[in-house]
Amino acid sequence: MKMLLSGNEAVARGAWEAGVTIATAYPGTPSTEILEVIGMLCKEDIYAEWSPNEKVAFEVAIGGSYAGARSLVCMKHVGLNVAADPYMTFAYTGVKGGFVVVSADDPSMHSSQNEQDNRYYAKFGIIPMLEPSDSQESKDLLIDAYDISEKFDTPVLFRMTTRISHSKGVVHMGDRTEHETDGFERNIQKYVMVPGHARMRRKVVLERLEKLKEFADTTPLNKIEEGKGGIGIITGGISYQYAKEIMPNASFLKLGMSYPLPEKKIKEFASSVDKLYVVEELEPFYEEQIKAMGIECDGKKYFTNYGELSPGAVSEGFVKAGVISERTQVSIPGEKLFPRPPVLCPGCPHRGAFTALKKLKVPVTGDIGCYTLAALQPMSVMDTCVCMGASIGNAIGIAKVGKDKGAVAAIGDSTFLHSGITGLLDAVYNKANIVVLLLDNRITAMTGGQHHPGTGQTLMGEETFQVDFVELSKALGVKDIHTVDAYDVDATKKTLKAALEYDGPSIVITNRPCALMPHKIKETAYTVLLDECIGCKLCFKIGCPAIAAADEKTEKGRPKAIIDPELCTGCTICAQICPVDCIVRVDSPAVEGARV
Ligand code: SF4
Ligand code: SF4
Ligand code: SF4
Repeated sequence: MKMLLSGNEAVARGAWEAGVTIATAYPGTPSTEILEVIGMLCKEDIYAEWSPNEKVAFEVAIGGSYAGARSLVCMKHVGLNVAADPYMTFAYTGVKGGFVVVSADDPSMHSSQNEQDNRYYAKFGIIPMLEPSDSQESKDLLIDAYDISEKFDTPVLFRMTTRISHSKGVVHMGDRTEHETDGFERNIQKYVMVPGHARMRRKVVLERLEKLKEFADTTPLNKIEEGKGGIGIITGGISYQYAKEIMPNASFLKLGMSYPLPEKKIKEFASSVDKLYVVEELEPFYEEQIKAMGIECDGKKYFTNYGELSPGAVSEGFVKAGVISERTQVSIPGEKLFPRPPVLCPGCPHRGAFTALKKLKVPVTGDIGCYTLAALQPMSVMDTCVCMGASIGNAIGIAKVGKDKGAVAAIGDSTFLHSGITGLLDAVYNKANIVVLLLDNRITAMTGGQHHPGTGQTLMGEETFQVDFVELSKALGVKDIHTVDAYDVDATKKTLKAALEYDGPSIVITNRPCALMPHKIKETAYTVLLDECIGCKLCFKIGCPAIAAADEKTEKGRPKAIIDPELCTGCTICAQICPVDCIVRVDSPAVEGARV
């Protein structure tokens, strides 16, 4: 059977075929769909969970492996930073059941705060790495990864990128091979990494690396495709597809297993061509190692390390290198799309919270979520955003050295549970004069609506314990705790003001759900009484996509506002800020006979 699958769907299928019985993740674009598919379609065979963060997800999967199960953990590239602690030491203990960590990198930062190249984590952790170049390989190589993991007693890094994760291709399906889980067996020299044991295991890791190098040279995962002419290209992942499209007649060494590199095969390939190029996305990971082998090659001299590659970029590189005479025109059929800046949805509860916050004119440290959009125009109210959970630590630092009452740390519920709790504990412990604005919309919204310990439901659809943020804050030692309706701008402002006046750490918890998930909210829409609108633009500044400039202008030439009733959810926020009260419900008596 064949199916059209995205790379992420193919990984999920590969996990099922490989006999995986436990899969864990924290959602993060571009990796999120892997666990969603497993949780939805494979629950008979695979236990799947959203963990509170990537470190926990990694540790749960390690436990599964120690108990003999084939285990999978998935995350976006920056998630591996969070999981780096267990990642590095798990390389020492090795596995019992096969273990694969999927790292989905995001070149061009479509949905990320940085563009780190996680291939370096393979070298850093001395962990073998596989890189698929399409959906079929995403399935097939994942199955190979489990065989490598068990053969060499090692976790395997499976490196995807956004284009592989999200592009669709035809995939040939296979059957599931069951792998019996025979349970945990005590082996403290292997599993307890005290210094004495770790020193012994470090030797095992280095010996294993030598065996993996031999394997890399012989495995068909690294294959030579002989071409015509003297040009040779070493490549892997999505870059292989681009290079193949631009240079179909060149010779290729395609790296399916890209750490450790197959040194003998690379030397053999290099000696068979006149000129060697390395085509890889982001950093010169292959190129540096190939040059260190004493092999002459060119790579980043012609192919950028900024953003994603593309057929056009690869073509441009080969023109610069003098290999082809002109850039291959790569045109995407269809009309050009109108650029749309990202904005909070109509009815988003964050809009009310940030409208209130803006009036207070305090430093606002931000975090990762839909609400990060509050940093952009027209809201422009967030001042920092570094990584998951950083808002609270950043606010503490600002408060400790600043002259005024400290900053407000704005953080979502999922991010708070991911890595904000320890920040709040620090604020209490070290008596930081800050306000934490916990934007509780009861979902992981930015990645498409995944559950977390605050939603009361598991990935597999079971009802479960739901965190109570007030009780949690009390348990952490916070004394000044407020809850407020984010749709009530005035009340939110007053509450934040009171919290800012409190001497010590405060928490203000908003309690409106996301307007889209788990259920779409659609109340009676609002409209503008055109004859009364003074064109003050205040409603434009809240950035609601349902509000637009009307053709009609005021006497002073200012555009009046109109509201799209289809988009408007009736959240009331624009009506609350209109200085002349000309934004009213569509069923209000004021609308009768009025121009709207
Ligand atoms: S998905 Fe939900 S939280 Fe995100 S912007 Fe839309 S309404 Fe707001
Ligand atoms: S009430 Fe106003 S702010 Fe809320 S969705 Fe409708 S137009 Fe947007
Ligand atoms: S806030 Fe009111 S008066 Fe000002 S532009 Fe909007 S609708 Fe018109």
